[in-house]
Amino acid sequence: MDHGEGGSELERFDPDIFAAVDGELKREREVINLVASENYASRAVLEAQGSVLTNKYAEGYPGRRYYPGCGPADDAEAIAIARAVELFGCGHANVQPHAGAQANMIAYMAALKPGETILAMDLRCGGHLTHGSAANYSGMFYRAVHYGVDRETEMLDYDRVADIARREKPRIIVAGASAYPRAIDFEAFRRIADSVGAMLMVDMAHFGGLVVGGVHPDPVPVSDFVTGTTHKTMRGPRGGFVLCREEHADHVDAAAFPGTQGGPLMHVIAAKAVCFKEAMAPGFRSYQHRIAENAKALCGKMAEEGFRIVSGGTETHLFLVDLRPQGTSGREAQAVLESVGICANMNEIPYDETPPTVTSGIRIGTPAVTTRGMGPAEMEELGAMISTALKQRDSESALAGVRSRARELADAFPVYPLC
Ligand code: PLP
Repeated sequence: MDHGEGGSELERFDPDIFAAVDGELKREREVINLVASENYASRAVLEAQGSVLTNKYAEGYPGRRYYPGCGPADDAEAIAIARAVELFGCGHANVQPHAGAQANMIAYMAALKPGETILAMDLRCGGHLTHGSAANYSGMFYRAVHYGVDRETEMLDYDRVADIARREKPRIIVAGASAYPRAIDFEAFRRIADSVGAMLMVDMAHFGGLVVGGVHPDPVPVSDFVTGTTHKTMRGPRGGFVLCREEHADHVDAAAFPGTQGGPLMHVIAAKAVCFKEAMAPGFRSYQHRIAENAKALCGKMAEEGFRIVSGGTETHLFLVDLRPQGTSGREAQAVLESVGICANMNEIPYDETPPTVTSGIRIGTPAVTTRGMGPAEMEELGAMISTALKQRDSESALAGVRSRARELADAFPVYPLC
């Protein structure tokens, strides 16, 4: 990175950490990133996130803080809130959650009493830990019950969700997932919630950008609470947010602070405001369409190469590949791909029988490569390269060929400089 005339203070003071940061920049430049939850924040986002706002304590909300000197912090947060409300078309936005997990904790705390029932997507079918996993606070403080996907179609079966809701009488139903490649019918979820007197919460941590871009159905009009992250398809800083109807605003704000968090990360909130401004710019919509187009192209090529795609395709920014027919695991595939300069994470496929540290699948996502400017032609080529690497994983010469082409592609579509 260019550090300007004075050079890098970090490099001078702490060469070890400088080396880690510089190593990450080098890695991001050299590797083709297909991790569905990652992206490259713009320079404007990085600048806000790396700013002096990190110094400021601002417990409370704009105009009602518990600390002095909050004028600039108030300005940043008020702008972030106003932009989120406009961008997502919601009644109220809280931009303080430190991350997606905290956003979900805040929504649960606003909606539920300890011990009440959450009905959410099973972790093993694509849900998230915060959707009531026994290992997570959400499964410890609440009674969690789960729906999955149909074993045949590997898609949501809304009638089955309705049956479970009738049986379990949840206080809140959560829609949204970490590894579900299909569009979600939020109106169907709303009808199910209404039929049992439950609230509806949608976790759009993954597909929030697609919603803004008009690529994925919009949960905001039919949900009581919508949670999200700013660092995945939204391409902003690492962080979370909660959107809700006006009637829930006080509960959500109190659940964020003082309910679950202390001082807000003002530098990150400023960067979220920048992210929301970028998402309002005309290019963002077409960027989101290109992400989905690229996912379809890459998924189509992998299917053509003979890989079994979970649910048979994708309508989002990601898809899942079942590696059992190739006689390999997610863990092995992740390692093989990483060895040739391609990053995609191991992931359970629905009803996977292997442990989560091994898995039978990989999850492939296109936000980051789309940010780099790659299009369907590169996706076709990447599909062929992944196929070669996985099928010929024992051939060092085949892997060397893929490795050198991956590096050429990475160099041809540079990261930083990026706008
Ligand atoms: N919700 C979903 C659906 C996610 O996929 C994730 C993260 O991957 C989260 C919540 C948590 O986000 P974070 O890692 O920012 O806490």
